[in-house]
Amino acid sequence: MLQISAISACIQNYIWIFHTDSDKKVWILDPGDAKAVNTWLKHNDKELAGVLLTHHHWDHVNGVEKIINQHTPVFGPAIEPFHLTNQFLSEGDTVDIGWLKFRVLELHGHTQHHVAYLCTPDQGPSMLFCGDILFSAGCGRLKQGTAEQLFYSLNRLKNELPDDTLIYCGHEYTLDNLRFALTVEPNNASAKAHQEHCLRLTEQGLRTVPSRIDLEKRINPFLRCDNPEINDRCEHHFGKKPQNPKECFAALRKWKDNFI
Ligand SMILES: [Zn+2]
Repeated sequence: MLQISAISACIQNYIWIFHTDSDKKVWILDPGDAKAVNTWLKHNDKELAGVLLTHHHWDHVNGVEKIINQHTPVFGPAIEPFHLTNQFLSEGDTVDIGWLKFRVLELHGHTQHHVAYLCTPDQGPSMLFCGDILFSAGCGRLKQGTAEQLFYSLNRLKNELPDDTLIYCGHEYTLDNLRFALTVEPNNASAKAHQEHCLRLTEQGLRTVPSRIDLEKRINPFLRCDNPEINDRCEHHFGKKPQNPKECFAALRKWKDNFI
């Protein structure tokens, strides 16, 4: 049976690992830390079959060089690729890792060219591995991309994914993000309840992800830019009323960049 494990590394990153009980080979997504990956492989008596990358930032790719050999497939974005990528992906491509098949979504905004991997299995919920585009209760910063691109990417996820889609994001930022979410929407009962739930999880040393897209639509301010309370808070904070959800998104992203 397929298992999805996570290694914590770098800056609260999650390195996602796809493996089964019976197969020695594993696939790894965004290996930012070679030492952490090799320790996991050794401990679990597994070998690397291939690598999936969402984007070229160091905390997602730094481990690649020391875990691959010359035959290892390394999938990643075709444009703005990491230099060790050898399988180049664009929107709509499929990646078959044996136990799972992914459809590639190009989701720009955090970087100019970032991809996510969507799996829609015959049974059970869809799964999205989305790197630094969408976090639980938050979203990626604008590093090489624009607010407009990120707004478009997030709306795509909001509108296209089935409600029960599991969201496997690239970082454990949920509690920090919820603090911001409740600053911009203090009356959001779902966000408050989820904050309490995540506090209990982290106290027990457990992950708060994967999340689900229907939960994110209730708690994540970056997916709620048409909400009047959030719009009012942005107006109060910046002294200027966002005229539409896209402007509200840009204001929120700017606010969060400086939120301590
Ligand atoms: Zn990044």
